[in-house]
Amino acid sequence: MEFSILADSFNKMESTRKRLELTQFLVELFEKTPDEVISKIVYLLQGKLRPDFEGIELGVAEKLAIRAISKSSGISIKKIEDEYRKEGDLGHAAAIILEKKTQTTFLVEDITVERVYETLFKIAKLEGTRSQDMKIKYISSLLNDASSLEASYILKILLGALRLGIAENTVMDALAIAFSGNRDNRKILEYAYNVSSDLGKVAETIATKGLEGIKKFKVILFNPIRPMLADRVKSEEEAIEKMGNNFAAEYKLDGERVQIHVEGEKVVLFSRSLENISNYYPDIIEKIPKAIQADNVILEAEAVAINENTGDFLPFQELMHRRRKYKIEKAVTQYPITVNFFDILYCNGKTCLELDYKDRRKKLEKIVKEDDFVKYIPMTIVKNNNEIKDFLENSINEGSEGLMLKMLDKPYQAGSRGSNWLKLKREYQNELGDSLDLVVIGGFFGKGRRTGSYGTLLLASYDEDEDIFTSICKVGTGFSDEDLDQLYQILNPKVTIKKNPRIDSEMEADVWFEPELVIEIVASEITISPIHKAAKDRIRKDAGLALRFPKFTGKIRLEKAVEDASTNEEIITLYKGQKKVAHDRNLI
Ligand code: AMP
Repeated sequence: MEFSILADSFNKMESTRKRLELTQFLVELFEKTPDEVISKIVYLLQGKLRPDFEGIELGVAEKLAIRAISKSSGISIKKIEDEYRKEGDLGHAAAIILEKKTQTTFLVEDITVERVYETLFKIAKLEGTRSQDMKIKYISSLLNDASSLEASYILKILLGALRLGIAENTVMDALAIAFSGNRDNRKILEYAYNVSSDLGKVAETIATKGLEGIKKFKVILFNPIRPMLADRVKSEEEAIEKMGNNFAAEYKLDGERVQIHVEGEKVVLFSRSLENISNYYPDIIEKIPKAIQADNVILEAEAVAINENTGDFLPFQELMHRRRKYKIEKAVTQYPITVNFFDILYCNGKTCLELDYKDRRKKLEKIVKEDDFVKYIPMTIVKNNNEIKDFLENSINEGSEGLMLKMLDKPYQAGSRGSNWLKLKREYQNELGDSLDLVVIGGFFGKGRRTGSYGTLLLASYDEDEDIFTSICKVGTGFSDEDLDQLYQILNPKVTIKKNPRIDSEMEADVWFEPELVIEIVASEITISPIHKAAKDRIRKDAGLALRFPKFTGKIRLEKAVEDASTNEEIITLYKGQKKVAHDRNLI
C-alpha cells in the first residue's frame, strides 16, 4: 500500500476534532487498506508499532532526527534548527526543507506503508554503540524517497509527535462500519479488544474473518486483559441504593495494581495501563510460582509497600522508588512489599471472566496460598450501612484508602467502568473534599524558593466524548520541595513548543506539556467559571466548571493513563451533589 494514501489521511484527520468526521475519514482509509497491512495502519494511527504491552518504544530524539534530515537534504543542521524554531514543529519544518530539495532529486524506491513500518521497527529495535549512526542511515533513506508530506508524517511518528486525537472507540466504530456495515457491532469488537488489549489484531481479524472471527476472541495467557474499573460513591447509603444488599466489601489498598500471568516458573506482570512492569518486581516474579496451585493463571493484585518491622501498609509513593532501571535488587530490599490478591481472570486454560464475583473469589482462595508475602485482600459480605461503616473504619485504621464494593453475582467486565464495582473513599465523605485525578497540561515558573521548578501547574479533566483535556484549575499549594523537584524531573521532558491539540484551555501557561501525567487533587468546591473549559456549556451557557482552593495531595499517579483521569461527567455529578448537600442544609 502506498504510504501517500496514509499520509493524506493523516493530513485530513489532523484538520478536525469532530468525532463523526474522524470516523468517516477512518472508514474511507480502512476501505482502501489491504488486509495484510490493516493491523500496521491501526498501530500507526495511534503513533505505535505494536500494542503497548509489547513495550516497543519508538521515540527518536529531535537532535538525531535533525541530523537525519541534514544528511538526506544536504542542508546544514543550523538551518534546519532555524526552520524548526520558526515552524514550532519538526515534521512541518522538514516538509518545507525537503520540498525545496525533492525538486532536484529522483525518487529511488517507492515509499509503501510496509517499508515505512519495517524501517521504523528496525529503528526501534536498534541498540548499542553504533545504533545512532544506523538510525540516521535508516531515517535519511526513507526521507530521501519521501514526498514532503510523507516525510513530515514519518518524522512525527518517529518523534512520538503524531497526535491525531483518535480515541480507541472511534477506531472501533470505523472498523465496525467498514467491515460489518453497522456501527452497533462495535460492542462485539469491544469485547475482543478488552480481552486482547490489541487493537491491531482486532482490526486484522474483522478484516479477514469478519464478525465470526471476532466472536472467537479468547483470553490468552501473557496477553494482558483490560482492567475492570469502579465508579465512585460518596456514602454507604448511595452504595446500597446502587447495589441493593448483595455485595462484598474489600479494602481499597493504596498500591499499584498488577495483573499477574503465571505458567510454571514463567511470570509476567502488567500495570493498570498494560505496560509490562516485570522488571520492577523481581520479588513477585520469584515468589509467586510457589504460591500458585494451578498449571496457569491470570490474577489481579495490589502490590503495596510495607513497613518491614511492623508489616503496616505504606502509601503508594513508596513504590515509586522501584521505578528504576538499575540497582533494582537494592530497591527490593529497601522497599519491601506484599502482594494482595483480589481477583482471578483465567485458570488452567480457561477464562474466569464470566464467573460471578463470589465464585471467582472462592477460586482465588483455592488456587493461591497465603504466606508472608502473598495475601488476599481483606473481604467481608456487608448487608447494611453500619456493617459498611465498621469495615470502612477498620480499613482506614489499617492504612488503606477506603473500600471497594463489589456485586456478588456479577462477572468481571474487562475494560469498563460500571456500577458493579464501586469505590468508597474516606475523603468522599466530607462534603466537598473529593479527591480528583487531573492531567497536568501547563506550568508556570516558580519564584523565590521555587525558582528552577514549576511553582504552579495548570490542570485538566478528561472529556470522554471529545477525547480531549479541558482546563479546570491552577494549583500551587500542597507541594513539598521534594514534590516540586520530582515533578520538574518528570515534566521537563514533556514540554512542547506548541500546545497539544487535545488540550482545551483559554488560560495561557508559561510552558505547555504533553498531556501524559496525572496527579491527585483535593478542592473545597466546584464553581462555575467563565475561563475554564471543563464541562463547558453543560451547566451554564458559555461557562465551564472550575475547582476552588485546589490542593495537591502528594500523589503523583504515574500508574494512571490520562484517559483514566476524572471525567467531565464525574465533575458534573460532583457539582450537582454539592448543590444538593447545600440545599439539604438550607444553605441555598
Ligand atoms: P482509583 O485509582 O481510585 O480509580 O481506584 C481503582 C484502583 O484501586 C485499582 O486500579 C486498584 O489499583 C486499586 N485497588 C485497591 N484495592 C482494590 C480492590 N480491593 N479491588 C480492586 N482494585 C483495588
